[in-house]
Amino acid sequence: MHVIVVGAGIIGLATAWHLRRLGAVVTIIDPAPAQGASHAAAGMIAPAAEVVWGQTPLYPLMRSSGELYPGFTAEVASATGAELGLNSTGTLVCAGDRADLQTLRELRGAQSAAGFTTELISGSKARAVEPSLAPSIIGAVDIPDDWSVDPRRLSAALLSMTTETLVRETVTEVVRRGDTTIGVRLADGRSLEADQVVLSTGSASITGAPVLPVRQVWGDVLRLRAQAEHTPLLTRTIRGLVNGRAVYLVPRPDGEIVLGASSREDGRAATSAGAVHRLLQDGQRLVPGILDCDITEVTTRARPGSPDDLPFIGRADDGCVVSTGYFRHGILLAPLGGRLGAELALGISPDWLPDGALDSVSPHRFSEAAPVSNA
Ligand SMILES: Cc1cc2nc3c(=O)[nH]c(=O)nc-3n(C[C@H](O)[C@H](O)[C@H](O)COP(=O)(O)OP(=O)(O)OC[C@H]3O[C@@H](n4cnc5c(N)ncnc54)[C@H](O)[C@@H]3O)c2cc1C
Repeated sequence: MHVIVVGAGIIGLATAWHLRRLGAVVTIIDPAPAQGASHAAAGMIAPAAEVVWGQTPLYPLMRSSGELYPGFTAEVASATGAELGLNSTGTLVCAGDRADLQTLRELRGAQSAAGFTTELISGSKARAVEPSLAPSIIGAVDIPDDWSVDPRRLSAALLSMTTETLVRETVTEVVRRGDTTIGVRLADGRSLEADQVVLSTGSASITGAPVLPVRQVWGDVLRLRAQAEHTPLLTRTIRGLVNGRAVYLVPRPDGEIVLGASSREDGRAATSAGAVHRLLQDGQRLVPGILDCDITEVTTRARPGSPDDLPFIGRADDGCVVSTGYFRHGILLAPLGGRLGAELALGISPDWLPDGALDSVSPHRFSEAAPVSNA
């Protein structure tokens, strides 16, 4: 079977990976592979720390994808010889004051109810494992099984498997015959046909594609590097609430630290100076030493948000599967989303999915039938 995958972000790349493993011939199309949201992502694989109120259907997806991660990354590393920047040291979610600690206590209740292993520890115990934490941290939730990967390394490794089948072009239109997708039209005027088309274009939409309520949630993120004498500044992911605002620091094995991230729906693709200011201000409340770091990069990208923060993964018509709307969890959900998208495209029943998961990510859940864009 020949499958066209439109979009080579982490989702399209993971889908192409699974499609090839299942024996499909894959063409992947993207004018700027791995330069979308996946380029900005911190890479937290944090199914427990990402538990927030009211998102119950998301928990089993995050847990299931988290469980797929070790096998997925081991296979990718072995097939490509790439080092993926995995950090399995764990995560500390820190509280800067009593109100933040109370919020963490309540969230920990939700995390435990969802079946995740967490432990509430004192500020001094947190500093014993991460000496760079601020003296003002009064407590933390220790989450040993929330780890991280370098999304750029993972994308690059997956991309290296696609070189012969990658078309660096923009898809301008999804081509349909009657009610069925049969291929795509490219900006250079060519048309390509396939047995199936998988649409994984993140927050971008294409003429002729199903209209989904995906919105752009902009995120600004900084990349830092500590001076040699202070390296490593951190060994595990540090997350926290500062005056109710979420902030995180994700250390890479090579010494890079990702400080993120803002969340804006103001439509501005440029980096917000105010957001960068707040990130540094909030980040230094958790780890004062970041102010001595070099800023090596400032990146702004749009997360593909959905109304209920769950992705859209499912069949749009007999020739088309959509896989988008991963919002703030696309790196975590890539093994699950990639495998599910590939299996749906090839007509394989995903019987390994948690009960109810397929319905929870249905692209039709906000409408009886997903209409088609003619815009
Ligand atoms: C600051 C920030 C931090 C984040 N941190 C994390 C994190 O720690 N953990 C986590 O799990 N998630 C995180 N995320 C979310 C995660 O990055 C996204 O959910 C994920 O990258 C979405 O992947 P994607 O492949 O769907 O989209 P993208 O990575 O945006 O890829 C879409 C691709 O489609 C291509 N495309 C678009 N239109 C067309 C077209 N017409 N023709 C051809 N190609 C097209 C684009 O060029 C792009 O390469 C973060 C996001 C941001 C912005």
